[in-house]
Formats: sequence, C-alpha cells, structure tokens
Amino acid sequence: MQVNELVYTVKWEELAKRKDDDRSSYPAGEYIEIVDYDPATGLFYEPVNLSDPNLLAQDGYAPSVSNPQFHQQMVYAVVMTTIKNFEQALGRKILWAENIPGPKPKGRSGRRPELNFSFVPRLRIYPHALRQANAFYDPNKKALLFGYFEASPINSQLELPGATVFTCLSHDIIAHETTHAILDGLHRRYIDATHPDTRAFHEAFADIVALFQHFSFPEVLRHQIAQTRGDLRRQNLLGQLAQQFGHAIGSYGSLRDAIGGFDGVGTWRPHVPNPNDYATSMECHQRGAILVGAVFDAFLSIYQTRAQKLMRIATGGTGILPAGDLHPDLVDEMAKTASRTASDVLRICIRALDYCPPMDITFGDYLRAIITADFDMVAEDTKGYRVAFVEAFQRRGISAIGIKSMAVEDLIHPLNPSKLNWKEEEQLGVFLRGLKESVGYLTERDRLYEKTKELIRGDKDLAGLHRRIEARLIAGNDQGKFSELTGLMFPGNKQATEKLGLEFAYLTSKTASYAVGNVWIANRVTPDGNIVNHVVITLIQKRGVRFIVSKDTQDVSVDEKGFFVPDKITNVEERGENYIVFRGGCTLIFDLDTLRLRYAVKKDVDDRARMIRQFKFEKGLLGEASETYFDSKEMNALAGPFAFMHSHNAMMGDNHVH
Ligand SMILES: [Zn+2]
Repeated sequence: MQVNELVYTVKWEELAKRKDDDRSSYPAGEYIEIVDYDPATGLFYEPVNLSDPNLLAQDGYAPSVSNPQFHQQMVYAVVMTTIKNFEQALGRKILWAENIPGPKPKGRSGRRPELNFSFVPRLRIYPHALRQANAFYDPNKKALLFGYFEASPINSQLELPGATVFTCLSHDIIAHETTHAILDGLHRRYIDATHPDTRAFHEAFADIVALFQHFSFPEVLRHQIAQTRGDLRRQNLLGQLAQQFGHAIGSYGSLRDAIGGFDGVGTWRPHVPNPNDYATSMECHQRGAILVGAVFDAFLSIYQTRAQKLMRIATGGTGILPAGDLHPDLVDEMAKTASRTASDVLRICIRALDYCPPMDITFGDYLRAIITADFDMVAEDTKGYRVAFVEAFQRRGISAIGIKSMAVEDLIHPLNPSKLNWKEEEQLGVFLRGLKESVGYLTERDRLYEKTKELIRGDKDLAGLHRRIEARLIAGNDQGKFSELTGLMFPGNKQATEKLGLEFAYLTSKTASYAVGNVWIANRVTPDGNIVNHVVITLIQKRGVRFIVSKDTQDVSVDEKGFFVPDKITNVEERGENYIVFRGGCTLIFDLDTLRLRYAVKKDVDDRARMIRQFKFEKGLLGEASETYFDSKEMNALAGPFAFMHSHNAMMGDNHVH
C-alpha cells in the first residue's frame, strides 16, 4: 500500500487574472503564474479558478488524471508549498533569478552593470508544455515546463486521455523543478559546470528537497513504520520508498541511485556506501546520488536516535518490543517523529545555502555550510544532528578542503575572521544598519528587490555598498587584509589589473571591478524561539585564464603571462583554445545585531589549483567526467541547461536500475 493522496494547505492569496491573452484567465499570484497552453495541440486548457468558494470548500478538485484544472491546481499547490518551505528555512522572501542584460556595450565600463538588471515577479508554469517524458526549469525564460506522454493522440475536446502520464501530477517532479528555479535565484553561478560537483549539486539538492518535503507528511511514512516496527534502517523500506519516488521522478533524478537497488534475483538491497564513491563517480547523476545518499543516511541516523527514545518509553525502558503489530498510537508517534525529522533535515539543508560560496560549490563546501548553519541555530548539538551529517558524508569519502580535520568543530567556519580594524568595518556597519531600516520590514518582493539594488548602488545622497567597500576597504590601508578575507584581488592601476585578467573599473577607487551578487537579510527563529538576524553578501570577480598543456604528458599549468579580461577578448584567434573564464569571491555573513562580520566563505580568485581543476574538468581531462555534461549541446541550446540533464536516460520504457 502506498499513500498517494495528500492535502496541501497553501496560504490563500487573491489571484489576479492574467490579461495578456484574451483566451484565458489563468491563476497568477505573487510568485507564480500558470499558463496552460499546449503547443502540441495549439490549445489553451480551461483555467482553474482557485478562488472559487465552492472549490475551496471541498479541498480543491478531487484527484483526477484527466482534468486539466486539477493539474493546474496540483502544480500551484506544490510549487507554493516548496516556496513556503524555503522561506521558512531562509527567514526571508525568495526572489527568482533576475533578468540579466545582454553583453555590455564596448568601451569604458564605468557604469554599474546592475543598472540593467531587472526584477522577475513571477515564475511561469506550463503544466502541459511538452509531449515528452520530461520536465525542466528554463533559466532564460524563468519558467517551469512539464511534459506528458501517452499512447494515443490527444482528443480535441480539451480532455486529456486517462492513459497519459503527466509529470505535472508528481509532487516530486514539481518540487524538484521548483527547487532548481529557487536555487538559481539564490546562487546564479551554480549553473556553471566548473567542477564535477556543481551540476551534480543542483540535481542532488533538487532531489533532497523533493524527498524530504514528501517525507514531511506523516501519512506518507505511517505504513512503512508499522511494517518495519519502527526500525526504518533495518529493512530499509524507507529506502525503497525513496526509490519509488525516484522512479516517479523518472530515471533522471539522482534519487533512484542514491539509496539502493534490486540485485540480480530481484531482492532490494541498500547501497553500502563506499569511501571511494566520491573520488570515482564522475557522471552527474551518479555523483548527485552520493550527496542524496549522504543526506538520507544522516536523516535515518537522526530518526533512529529519536525513535529509540520513543521505544524505550513504549516498553517501560527496555526498548524491546513485544511480538506482533505495534500499537497504532506508537505508530502514530513514530510517524510524527519521522516527519518532524524530515522537516528538520529539509530546513537544515535549505538554510545551509546561505553559508555556501557564491560559485564552484563542492559537496565538502556544502557539508561545512550545513554544519555552520546548524551551529548558528542550535549551539549545543544535543540531538547529534551534526555528527550524523559528518559521519554520513565521510562514509562516502566526501571531505572538505583546507581544514585540519573532519571533526565538527573544524568544519564550522571560523567565527569573526576579520582582522580589519573596527573603524573600517564600521563603515559596513552603517550600510548594514541602513539595510535593516529600509529593507528589513519590506514585504513586497518588487520593493525589496529595488530597494536593495538602490542601497548597493547608492545615489546622490547616499553612499552605496560599492562606495563604502571601495573607499574604506579597498583604497584604505587594509586592502591586503580585505583581499585575504574575500579572496578578491585589487591591484593598483589599470595596467596591473588587466595583466591579471581582471576588468578595470572607474569606480571611486579606480581599481579591479567586482560584482555584488546578493545582499540578503535573514531573520530566522531558532528552535528555542530566539531570532537570529543576519545579512548575507556575496562578492564575485572573474578573470580569463590561459593554460599550457604539455603535448607529451598532458600536464597542465597556468600560463602566467596569459591572463586576459574576458569581456575584452572574445574571438577565438586572440583567446586561443586553452582558456577558461574563472571566478572567485566570497560569501560574507554579518550579524545584524552586533554589526560584526561573523563568517567569510571564500573561493580565492588567484587559486592556481582550482584554476587547473576547472580547466581539466571543462576540457574533459578528468577522465570520463565531462563528456556526459556536454554531449547534448543541441538540447541545451533548445531548452536551457536543465533540460538535457533530465532527458538523459529518461525516455519511456527505460527502467534499468544502476
Ligand atoms: Zn533536475
């Protein structure tokens, strides 16, 4: 038996009617709009009216495979549930990735590029966009496209035949695709495949959200708990359940490989984690599966610890259950415990995004982010959450670079790392206070976006973030310290700057240009009811780097005289073949109450080893790694970077288990 019906409780919002085509009036809320146009048939399906009081009274449309209005309602509810989970964990409103302008006009780049960026109010959702066993997020169109597939052609009566499989009816697919869109809004550069982990991270993270959001409904786990007598790890039914969802997602997710698989005689077996997994699995989905598997493993450990406590209570302290079925009340309690654990893990995993570097993320970076974020919320790890995560990652050979050990205390980013003197830092403090006062209480997302941009940019009366950083930290005596803290470079003059491949900007301090990627305020409530107020700022620089590849040995080294400004040299003749566009920078986390810098998470823009690793990865010199990323260029051009990842072995009838 499997639970297939869940009731989603979505905050009610008055839905405006879209006006841009007179054939329809689809639901359009604050965050999303649904456009049920089917290009295959050229038809618009009748829009659902979610505000209809009759519909509200009966908990929405009853699940029906052939009713397009139910499909719209299903997508709407799951997308909004996913958004709500992100907002609760992050302590702020989420924004979709902004529109980016085309290539900058040639000439002096004195103008701040942010001026041309624009706010994207709503993600567009097409429940019946493709006639394929596929679904994807299109980062250019800011849209989710869901496919469907069937044996017989669709009839013309605006009714969908019952035999059709609709990806827009799967909670897991919707949550997975929505997560891609939200993650793109948070960390724009994670789309860049700069490391075997980056694309794998996008996929795995989308699966993690889908899986734990699903498990956060107690009714999903109740049956499994009764069957395994509470010991989810022993029989691994939970793993099987997770894998069933993997199948529902299609073969494209990381999920199906993460937990286990059927052996030659049809018996399901959990995967035994191998410490070599991380070093040897380079294909995107296999690699993603390592991360999903690690988080799932951590979840099971945490649940097990909490469940044992319940068992002891239920058995008068012995922990040994009598034979026979569990008492239904105990099953209820354990299902609640499991769903609460799933919600905790979901929150921890989402919250960690604020503690990640702004580019080139690795699984090790993510582990450190998880541990640090959790430390900020719960000072004493009495429930053993952090240890569970570290052990699960270690079992798969995932480690973090540049730390003493994999002990929890070493994984936490160093507190208050800034050696900058207080006077200098206070200049940022003024900015932070201004941010808190003018943005901290805004609830409209468009105002939030515009006001934050304005504070970064500054205007006649107000020195923006750029000016403060430049005047106080770059031009000041502490430039060296600031560079060390942020991983950015600020050589003195134009010639020296361009020689290093950095763009020179005529800013207040006339120095290397850098972008302020994000400025976020986060207000989080800890489990103890305390409120943690942080500001997260990301700074990014890019440079063009050329490499020398030895013909005999294929050895790669950085061409120290070959740095170039990427936007200046775009033709192949000048640039050559052996180059990459390399990015570095940092995520700075400030405590908004003390106005002090709390953490700096950096990726050095001058890191030779990282340059060589990215070059080797992009050029396919890391073994089998990169072919799988780049062989579907056609599909990529057609539908954006997330399409080909999903079309890969997601065709109908392909049900093999790795
Ligand atoms: Zn995906």
